[in-house]
Amino acid sequence: MAFEGLTERLQNAMKKLRGKGKISEADLRETMREIRLALLEADVNFTVVRNFVKTVQDRAKGADVLEGLNPSQQIIKIVDEELTKMMGEEAVPLNKAPKIPTIIMMSGLQGAGKTTTAGKLALKLKDEQNARPLLVADDVYRPAAIDQLQTVGEQIDVPVFQLGTDVDPVEIAKRGVAHAIENHNDYVIIDTAGRLQIDEALMGELKNIESEVKPNEILLVIDSMTGQNAVATAEGFNDALDITGVVLTKLDGDTRGGAALSIRAVTDRPIKFVGQGEKMTDLDVFYPDRMASRILG
Ligand code: GDP
Repeated sequence: MAFEGLTERLQNAMKKLRGKGKISEADLRETMREIRLALLEADVNFTVVRNFVKTVQDRAKGADVLEGLNPSQQIIKIVDEELTKMMGEEAVPLNKAPKIPTIIMMSGLQGAGKTTTAGKLALKLKDEQNARPLLVADDVYRPAAIDQLQTVGEQIDVPVFQLGTDVDPVEIAKRGVAHAIENHNDYVIIDTAGRLQIDEALMGELKNIESEVKPNEILLVIDSMTGQNAVATAEGFNDALDITGVVLTKLDGDTRGGAALSIRAVTDRPIKFVGQGEKMTDLDVFYPDRMASRILG
C-alpha cells in the first residue's frame, strides 16, 4: 500500500516522545529532524517539507506544548492538522455548469489513468447523481484509445461519442458537446490525448480544446507512482491550462506517495479524487483529513 514507509517512519519519530511528561527543545528538534527526513524520503517536495516542519515547530513552541499536559499527543495533533492543511484542508466538489451539460476535460500524461478515470467518474456520476454522462473519445493518436474508451463505456453502460482518428481533436470535442446538448446529457467527459512527456504540441492542442469548449472542470490525472516527476508534471500542465482539479491515480500501488501529496501545496490546485484500483468503482472523493489520518496510521 501507498505510504507504508512514511507511516512507519512518522510513527517511529513520534514514539520517542511518548510517555515523556515534558519535552525539551532538543527533543522537539530531534523529532522534527526525523519527521523532515521521513517526508523527504517519501518524496514530499523539498520546499513543502521545509515549510511544514517550520510551521509544526513554531506551533509546538508557541502553544507551550512542551510544558503542557501530554506533549506528544499535542504534537501528533499538530502534525495531523498541518498534513491536512498541506493537502488542502477540505474536500472540493466538482464544478458544475449553471446550465447542463457540465463539461469535464481530462488531461495528463499517457498512462496516468485518464481513460480509466473518465470511465470511473462517469460511473460515479451515474450511480450517485443519477446523471446521464457522455464520454468523448478525443485521443486520436493512439487508435487503441478509442477502443479502450468504448470498452469502458460498454462496461458501465455510458454512451461514447467518437469520430475516429481522422478528425481534428478540437472539432471532436466541439461536436461531442453539441451531441450532448442534443441528447440532454448532463455531463460531457472528454478523454484527451496524452504524451510520454510534456511537449508543446500536446499543450497547444489541449489549450485549443480548452478555449473552444470552455470546460467547467479541467481535471489533471497524475500517476502517484511517478515520484518527484509527479510534481514537475503537475506544474507543467498547470502553467499551460487552467487546471481546476487533480486526480491522483494508483494510490493502491506501492508508492511512497509524498510527491503526489505535495501537488496541492505546489500548484494550489485541489485534489478532488483518488484512484485506488483498476476497477470502475475504484474512485474516491479526496478528503485531506482522512488522508492525513491514514498517513499517520
Ligand atoms: P491513460 O493513457 O492516461 O488514458 O491511462 P489508462 O486509463 O489507459 O491507464 C493506464 C493503466 O493504469 C491501465 O492499466 C489502468 O488499468 C491503470 N490504472 C489507472 N488508474 C489506476 C488506479 O487507480 N490503480 C491501479 N492499480 N491502476 C490504475
